[in-house]
Amino acid sequence: MEMMFHLLFPDVCVICGSLLSGSERYCCTACISGFDRFRSPSEAEEVLRHAIATRFSEKFFFDRGCSLFWFHKDNPLQKALHAMKYDGLFTIGTVFGQQLGRWMLQSDIPGDLDCIVPVPLHYLKKVERSFNQAEKIAEGIGKTIRKPVRPELLKRIRYTESQTSLPAPLRRKNPAGAFQAGKSSMPRNILLVDDVITTGATMAAAASALRAAGADRVLLASVALAAKE
Ligand SMILES: [Zn+2]
Repeated sequence: MEMMFHLLFPDVCVICGSLLSGSERYCCTACISGFDRFRSPSEAEEVLRHAIATRFSEKFFFDRGCSLFWFHKDNPLQKALHAMKYDGLFTIGTVFGQQLGRWMLQSDIPGDLDCIVPVPLHYLKKVERSFNQAEKIAEGIGKTIRKPVRPELLKRIRYTESQTSLPAPLRRKNPAGAFQAGKSSMPRNILLVDDVITTGATMAAAASALRAAGADRVLLASVALAAKE
């Protein structure tokens, strides 16, 4: 229903419903100003590095990375991400991806990157939602930094429950072993992309599957990074 609404009336903010003006797309300026954005690509990278080194359940080697926003419960960003995921507004993902791509260019991340791999959904979940939001974000990044998006390099082999519906201890264990590399030969330097990094366990599991199949460096990108609970 909501999706129909947006198709018929595309010029309203997906967060507050007010009419968009001029250059605004999907979210109004007032709502966007409520997002908790990192001040710069280097601040985002530092926060991501620190989070993975200190507070995530699974420590893993982390080379470079980029995030745009802090993720807080009840922040307007949560509504925008929700609309992207469940209301079929996947072009929001492409817009976030383009912003991520611009930040990466500023911080010289593309360098010797070979390709971009979105964290995959299980095919049953993809049937349910009809698209993978991480793939849309990856496409936005790819267009901006001019690198190919290769979803076929990683598969989700286990259907995992939605992370947020599980109690914290289960959530952490949940994604381990859920991924497997595809059959193509694995490039050396890969950018792994997801919408939100919460416990870091999904990224860790996906990165380890890519490494096991021959990737040398796995770089990370997400639209948002969950603030410490
Ligand atoms: Zn708004």
